[in-house]
Amino acid sequence: MPDISIIVPVYNEAEVLDEFFRRLFAVAASEALKEYSFEIVCIDDGSTDATGEILHKYSQSDPRVKYITFSRNFGKDASLIAGLKYCSGCCAIPMDADLQDPPELIEKFVAKWREGYEVVCAVRSNRDSDSYLKRKTSELFYKFYNAVSDRSMPYNAGDFRLISRKVVNALMSLRERSVFMKGLFNWVGFRTCVVEYVRPPRASGRTKWDYWKLWNFALDGITAGTTLPLRIWTYVGSCTALLSLAYAFYIVVRTIVRGVDVPGYASLIVSILFFGSVQLIALGIFGEYIGRICTEVRGRPLYVVDKTVGFGESGRESKNI
Ligand code: UDP
Ligand code: MG
Repeated sequence: MPDISIIVPVYNEAEVLDEFFRRLFAVAASEALKEYSFEIVCIDDGSTDATGEILHKYSQSDPRVKYITFSRNFGKDASLIAGLKYCSGCCAIPMDADLQDPPELIEKFVAKWREGYEVVCAVRSNRDSDSYLKRKTSELFYKFYNAVSDRSMPYNAGDFRLISRKVVNALMSLRERSVFMKGLFNWVGFRTCVVEYVRPPRASGRTKWDYWKLWNFALDGITAGTTLPLRIWTYVGSCTALLSLAYAFYIVVRTIVRGVDVPGYASLIVSILFFGSVQLIALGIFGEYIGRICTEVRGRPLYVVDKTVGFGESGRESKNI
C-alpha cells in the first residue's frame, strides 16, 4: 500500500506529459517527500493522440506509474472516480496533467495531512491566468451555488487537493451517477484546511472546456447540490397568485366604480407572455432534474474500462462501477 496516490485524468495531453512526469518525479524525490512511497494512477480518458503510448512507456520504466484506459471519452469527473476506485494509497491527490496544478504543492499538502487534516484543499489566490469572462462567470457560479445549495463550497477550489483514505472511502460509498466531483468532495465533509496557490496557465496544449461545456457542468453541479430550483415554484406560484388576486380585486372595484372599459390589450398580452415564460422556465428546470433522474435510474456505469496496466494481479483490475 503506497503512502500517496496521485490521480491524473489525461485527455489528449501528449504535449505536456513528459514535462509533467519530470516535475512530479522531481517532487517525489525531494528531501521532504523521499520517505513517502508514491503511486501515480493515470486515467486515459479516450485520448486520440500519443497519450496512450507515452503512459505505456512510463508504466514500463517505472513501477509507480499505472494507468487505466477508457473505451472512449467519459469526462474528467468519471476519470477521477475511476482513479479513486483503483488507487490504493493512504491518501489520494487528484491533479491535472497540464501542470496547472503545480506538483510542488504536494509537499505542503502532505505537511498539513501529517498535522491531522483529512482534506487539504488548494485554493487559487487569484484567477489572473483566466480571461475576464471566465473569472466573472465562475464567480457568478460560486455565488449562485453557495446561495442555493445545501452545503457551500469554498471559492476557487478545484479538484486539486489531498484527501485521506477515509475520505476516499466515503466518496466511493456514494452511488450517484451524475457526478460533480467538486460538490461531492465538499459534501463528504471531514477536517479540512486550505492551501493558497497561484494557478499558472496551461504548460501547453489547450483546454478541453468551452463555455457550453462549462454551462452544462454548472447545471450538473447545481442540480446535484440542491433541489431548491424545483421547490421554489411553490413560492413563485403563491406570490404571483397573491399578486393576481390583488390585481383582480382592483379590476373588480374599478369596474364597479368606473364602469366597463374594454381596452386592456396591453396588460393582457403582457401578463400572458410573462406567465407563459415563467411556466416554461419552471418546466425547463423540471426537465433538468427529470433528465438526471433518468440517468440515475438507467444505472449505466460512469465509465467503461478498456484496459488497466500496472495494477498487478489484484482483483482491482476488473473492478468497475
Ligand atoms: N480531462 C479529462 N477528460 C476530459 C477533459 C479533460 O480527463 O474530458 C483532463 C485533462 O487532460 C486535464 C484535466 O482534465 O488533465 C483538466 O482539463 P483542462 O486543463 O482542459 O481544464 P481547465 O484547466 O482548462 O479547466
Ligand atoms: Mg487545465
